[in-house]
Amino acid sequence: MPQDTLTYAVTDGDTVYIINSPDDLTAKEIKKLPPEIQESIRKSFSEKKEVEGSQNDYSFFAVGLFVFLIAASLIQIIKVWSGKPVSFSDNEFEGVNNQPATGCLQYAGRDLIFSNTEINRICLKYNSYYCNLSGEKKDTFIARLKKFLQTKTFYICSNQGYKEMPVLVSAAAIQITFGLDDFLLPYFENIVIHPQEYFGTNPLRILEGNVQGTSINLSWKHFLEDYQNPADGKNVGLHEMAHALQVQYLFNTGRDTNEFKEDFAYFDKVDDEIIKTEKNRLGSLFDSNALSNVNEFWATSVELFFEKPLDLKARHPELYKSICIVLNQGTATE
Ligand SMILES: [Zn+2]
Repeated sequence: MPQDTLTYAVTDGDTVYIINSPDDLTAKEIKKLPPEIQESIRKSFSEKKEVEGSQNDYSFFAVGLFVFLIAASLIQIIKVWSGKPVSFSDNEFEGVNNQPATGCLQYAGRDLIFSNTEINRICLKYNSYYCNLSGEKKDTFIARLKKFLQTKTFYICSNQGYKEMPVLVSAAAIQITFGLDDFLLPYFENIVIHPQEYFGTNPLRILEGNVQGTSINLSWKHFLEDYQNPADGKNVGLHEMAHALQVQYLFNTGRDTNEFKEDFAYFDKVDDEIIKTEKNRLGSLFDSNALSNVNEFWATSVELFFEKPLDLKARHPELYKSICIVLNQGTATE
């Protein structure tokens, strides 16, 4: 007998939502997803699924195996081409929680002890948002960062981990949530750090970052490059944290409400119209991915909010204002 689907992964760009039933997404949220994803949700939850012939199962398996082998080969080629991928720091972890069986180093955040001095040094070097905070706010930032870090498990898919990894990824989360009372993103238990681009499945694609299930995944190469260019409007760390906030507060709360969800209505009011305008504009602030659906538009708007706040405010003051309300902070200070 075919079984009802218990959980279902809804892939939308670089976000994969694991949902138990369509009730996990409100009708409005489902309507915002691209048509083909809406269709796949409907299909997934139809009462009966046709049992596919065993021949089809085998051919599906063969295709899957073929794709996997090709993907594995490509990863190997990329690794060989790029030489030693992680070369930005000499600070290796001192932890010993190595679990080679998984192919990744694994560190429980509660076992990672960083002094305030160490966190301050790392953030001053790489995080310009932190650099611009007053002394008192820097203290709050570090205290929040430590709490966030302690609640996560870090997986580093390389044979070397660096102190900057958990500190700076946590700093990105604290940056985006700095105006919010709740900043721990408890739904996301895992932070997975790849040295560089990695493959995502369903569909097979190359990713610089994504959120999937209870994990926030990032390419360290892109994460670090983006933080080293703090005014180019591109920041994969903030982009994925923006998706994580959506998953945490909009998609996993059922019909419950929360302050983030209420404030998000301000963004919801302006997003469709601006996407339309920007699609027809030469020299748009937004790339085609950002304009492909409202969730990508939100994540990219957050990148611009932090990296090109004056441009964003000048072009779309109502959009800038809505993000100020949602994140409860302002960035256009000049
Ligand atoms: Zn995205």
